Amino acid sequence: MQLSRRISTLTGGGSDGWDLFNRAREMIRSGIDVIELTIGEHDIRTDPTILVAMDAAARGGHTGYAAIPGVRALRERVAARVTERTGVPTGVENVMITPGGQSALFAAHHAVCDEGDVALYIDPFYATYPGTIRGVGAVPRAVLTRSRDAFQPKVEALSAAADGAKSLLINSPNNPTGVVYDRATLEGVAQVCAAHDLWLISDEVYDTQIWEGAHLSPRALPGMAARTLVVGSMSKSHAMTGSRVGWVVGPEAVVEHLITLATHTTYGVPGFIQDAAVFALDQGTELEAEIAAPFRRRRDLAMEVLSAQNTVVPIPSQGAMYVMLDIRATGLSGIAFADALLDAHHIAVMPGESFGQAAAGHLRVAMTVEDDLFVTALHRLCEFAARRAA
Ligand code: PMP
Repeated sequence: MQLSRRISTLTGGGSDGWDLFNRAREMIRSGIDVIELTIGEHDIRTDPTILVAMDAAARGGHTGYAAIPGVRALRERVAARVTERTGVPTGVENVMITPGGQSALFAAHHAVCDEGDVALYIDPFYATYPGTIRGVGAVPRAVLTRSRDAFQPKVEALSAAADGAKSLLINSPNNPTGVVYDRATLEGVAQVCAAHDLWLISDEVYDTQIWEGAHLSPRALPGMAARTLVVGSMSKSHAMTGSRVGWVVGPEAVVEHLITLATHTTYGVPGFIQDAAVFALDQGTELEAEIAAPFRRRRDLAMEVLSAQNTVVPIPSQGAMYVMLDIRATGLSGIAFADALLDAHHIAVMPGESFGQAAAGHLRVAMTVEDDLFVTALHRLCEFAARRAA
């Protein structure tokens, strides 16, 4: 029996980029102490007060089918949050609640791309992007950015790739680079979208993790609300990765179709999870700042360690839970470096090549272990790099 081409070619063939991660997990399973700086997940769990709200909602009976676009209270909270942060008037009719940002990325592409349409994304990229695009039958086309531009996409590169494309996916604050797109970059993005009549899918799941500059949602730029679908999530902002709750914000006419899509796919998000998300959002920015604080602290620690040597060049981390390191001075690829570091020092970091060709010769370090261990790991990584470069 033949499986569909669509599912059997989802990853595009070859490695899915997670070889090092899998090898580190295998070492941990066999009892080796590995410092794990690979995965983008908090080292704290969901706040107990959110769990109490979740438990109360479930015990209170919110365990049946929930409203498919999301419960009204949560859609209202998300609409209010987006309005407040971006200044773009947003109502419940603009909000679709989804099982996490990943499902929102899939739904957004499903909504705007037909079979065979070209969907643009920026390289380096979050690991699932090309597969998500293939998953809706569209064709992924990468737009390369450069380390020396701090991985900010340039208008010329976007324009050159945009001919015949249907959509553009961007992500700021960015995984894997930790870069926050500045106003000029986002205005360039908007200009290209207007000139080439592209839908913009803006992944803003790290919008509460800003260390430098400000988060600007491109939906707020002139004329962009009508062609932008914003992807959001409670995963990063509220340490609720396992709860699977996120959203798409966009034009009402698109949301109506997303509701139909959800009716035929996910059938919504559990009511007790949504009630917990309402509770979490009602805690305001204070809780969000508390959850972001360890990354802000470690980002400062990382910049301190890295500024004391000159083999490893950091791309200044302006947001999200990552710092990207240029290790080309060692003469090694990101893959070779990460492999050797894991073997020699039991420190696991992601090779830049896992996130596309633009990040070759780089490493992505997730700032997701406690401070002392994090600093120790960075020192060892830098010493290792210096020895290799010598
Ligand atoms: N976008 C980016 C850039 C991410 O890093 C992640 C998770 N690592 C997601 C989307 C998906 O997150 P979730 O489905 O947990 O909301």
